[in-house]
Amino acid sequence: MPSILDIYGALLNYWGPQNWWPGETTDEICIGAILTQNTNWSNVEKALMNLKRKGLLSISSIASAPKEIIEECLKPAGTYRRKALYLMDFSKQVISQLGCIEKLFTLGPNKARKWLLKQKGIGPETADSILCYGGNFPLLVIDAYTLRLGKRMGWLSPEINSYDKAQEELQLYLPKDPKVLGEFHALIVKHSKEICRKKPRCSMCFMMPCCNAVKDAQI
Ligand code: SF4
Repeated sequence: MPSILDIYGALLNYWGPQNWWPGETTDEICIGAILTQNTNWSNVEKALMNLKRKGLLSISSIASAPKEIIEECLKPAGTYRRKALYLMDFSKQVISQLGCIEKLFTLGPNKARKWLLKQKGIGPETADSILCYGGNFPLLVIDAYTLRLGKRMGWLSPEINSYDKAQEELQLYLPKDPKVLGEFHALIVKHSKEICRKKPRCSMCFMMPCCNAVKDAQI
């Protein structure tokens, strides 16, 4: 039976590196992580481009920008008023409490995560995206795709629905390497969107011989 790490290698071989998280700066990675909640990446890209055109693609510039301008830029990303509120609040807190986002990462992963989780609109998935892709901390981002694939493959028990528990379980079998964990999350998303969909395309999936859901004929 291949290990989770073997499957990571096979996914990487099959799909190639996903080059996550797209973003030229740490600020851009954090902004993208907040905007991607409940929308697809192409919508986020449009919003990021709007911010860039207005010279607002940084935490310090967002913190001091007029709300109406930020809202206008974020329209393509959906629920733009709420996202503008969260993004502006986050940016103001970063500037007033820390000075810059890099300072957050000097606190270490535990304190930085606690700080992020206190911010409006930031849950564990967004916090860990910021910490893994922006701060280079070894944290596996868990999302609905990870839970679904993990349960189908038998890596996670069917009852697990807790973010922290799923993360703890999966990280046990993976190296504490942010590059591996970041890439694994991206590959899980890719495989889940293309093949292990809600209605899975098992006949196209190279993981079929070692997939619990197929063995148990759950699908
Ligand atoms: S074999 Fe089917 S259920 Fe299992 S991982 Fe592949 S697509 Fe998903």
